[in-house]
Amino acid sequence: MTSAHPAPTTAPHPLAGQPEHVRADVAVVGAGVIGLATAWELRRRGRSVVVVDPEPGSGASRAAAGMLAPVSEVQYQQEALYPLMTASAAEYPAFVAALEQAAGGTVGHRATETLVCGVDAADRQALADLRELQRRHGMTVEQLTLRDARALEPALSPRLSAAFRIPDDHQVDPRRLVAGLLAALTAPELPVPPGIAEPPGFPGARDGGPARLVHGLATGLRRSAEGAATGVRLAGGGMVSATWTVLAPGAGLDDLDGLPEDWHPPLRPVHGDILRTRVPAGTPALLERTVRGLVHGTPVYLVPRTDGTVVIGATSREDDLTGPSAGGVFRLLRDAQALVPGVADLELLEVLARARPATPDDIPYLGRVHDLDGTPVPGLVVSTGYFRHGVLLAPLAARLAAQLVAGGAGPDPAADAEHLATTDPHRFDRPVEARPGDPAPAAAGPGPRSRSTR
Ligand SMILES: Cc1cc2nc3c(=O)[nH]c(=O)nc-3n(C[C@H](O)[C@H](O)[C@H](O)COP(=O)(O)OP(=O)(O)OC[C@H]3O[C@@H](n4cnc5c(N)ncnc54)[C@H](O)[C@@H]3O)c2cc1C
Repeated sequence: MTSAHPAPTTAPHPLAGQPEHVRADVAVVGAGVIGLATAWELRRRGRSVVVVDPEPGSGASRAAAGMLAPVSEVQYQQEALYPLMTASAAEYPAFVAALEQAAGGTVGHRATETLVCGVDAADRQALADLRELQRRHGMTVEQLTLRDARALEPALSPRLSAAFRIPDDHQVDPRRLVAGLLAALTAPELPVPPGIAEPPGFPGARDGGPARLVHGLATGLRRSAEGAATGVRLAGGGMVSATWTVLAPGAGLDDLDGLPEDWHPPLRPVHGDILRTRVPAGTPALLERTVRGLVHGTPVYLVPRTDGTVVIGATSREDDLTGPSAGGVFRLLRDAQALVPGVADLELLEVLARARPATPDDIPYLGRVHDLDGTPVPGLVVSTGYFRHGVLLAPLAARLAAQLVAGGAGPDPAADAEHLATTDPHRFDRPVEARPGDPAPAAAGPGPRSRSTR
């Protein structure tokens, strides 16, 4: 069994290295699912890309269960998030088809449904109430008898209080997704079959060429004398020069210097413990579908992969413990067994904890970054704060960021504009308070717009 900090997902790629000075159209900081998917969309739009990360795929993306769950992830008072989740889920099949073709392998995308179960009467009521909200938003949630649920998944406990079927919640394997993105990014050339690899709204764009992967830490943003973003500085003295810079460092945004003065969008780490298990050799698969639910009010999920492994997650902790929590692991195993008793017979392969980069409203920061006077910093896009939904949101996030950089439009430009309004990275800025001695505000013009909170 491996523990909290396993080896990075990828061995250094042949293109890796820390050259003194690399140039590309776009520098992407962070090689989690968000940075890599964005780099891939940019390559497909004919841009040369450099991706900077000391350990690609080692952040939250390494821990993620990979549930693509726009329905069962619905929470009260998060209405603004639902359109992002459903839009990205709808983009997944085409995103995966193009990626798998370029990568030459599969990424573990499975369109199998999800069952959501409760254990006691309060769980049943909570799930039934949530179902009303989900249905009001046009989502499909079908109540099952326990007999029908157990006919679908015989490993379910006979002592459940309720079961619901959600046909539109699927899964992908995030580690295979990261590996596929790295393979597609660095492939010598992209296949361009009609109707698949050519991004919608961007006819004629072909291939920006293989991306370069720099295994290094970005320490800060480079800015020109006029204030434009011109790439990043690297720890150890190197630099990447680029016309555009996309910041996708997950929870690491606050560690970068050179960002616009007083722009500190609030980001906090919410740790999650998660387990990888496997059915014993020679035993049939435990589950076909993702099973999630409430166990005396506490959420837990089991995500079965085709290779016989089952991912069991996840806790949600806002404490200082960065490695796995013993109490968290205990509760996961206890609650997973309440839904599926056969969990007790699984082999435990891995215990892992990672921080989800969380924003105050659980909505990511995706968009152009402004200076204090309200003007967009030329050449700068941020894409972070994906909290519990980064794997689900990756196709939409990548496409929108790539459109901000390379132009072009998606099939529904009005919807894209709404998504970007929702994810405004300056939405938590607060108005600048006048300081003694400040000049009176001008009668017209943008003027100083914000002094942000942390
Ligand atoms: C236990 C757990 C379960 C989850 N399950 C799901 C799920 O089922 N479905 C779902 O949609 N989401 C899930 N998530 C959330 C999902 O994992 C995240 O939202 C997503 O991985 C965020 O991706 P990212 O690329 O923004 O960040 P990360 O994956 O954290 O990647 C950021 C990368 O940036 C790099 N970096 C940081 N600073 C720098 C720097 N200065 N220079 C260079 N590189 C830098 C890091 O090394 C890292 O590789 C889960 C998360 C956890 C923790």
